[in-house]
Amino acid sequence: MIFSKEEIILEYTVEKCPKCEKLNQRDFSDGDVLFNSSSKCTFCDSVTIIEKIYGEIL
Ligand SMILES: [Zn+2]
Repeated sequence: MIFSKEEIILEYTVEKCPKCEKLNQRDFSDGDVLFNSSSKCTFCDSVTIIEKIYGEIL
């Protein structure tokens, strides 16, 4: 392999609460799909929606 340099990609998921509009960034986990419902909002207990998934190369 010529391109043997490994890239470490960190993936993040940003959840948004539709009720109080708080954003929460956490590590990406398998099964996260954009605009799916996610975990519960820590502020108002509503179900958050996955607003953004992005990766970062170290
Ligand atoms: Zn909320």
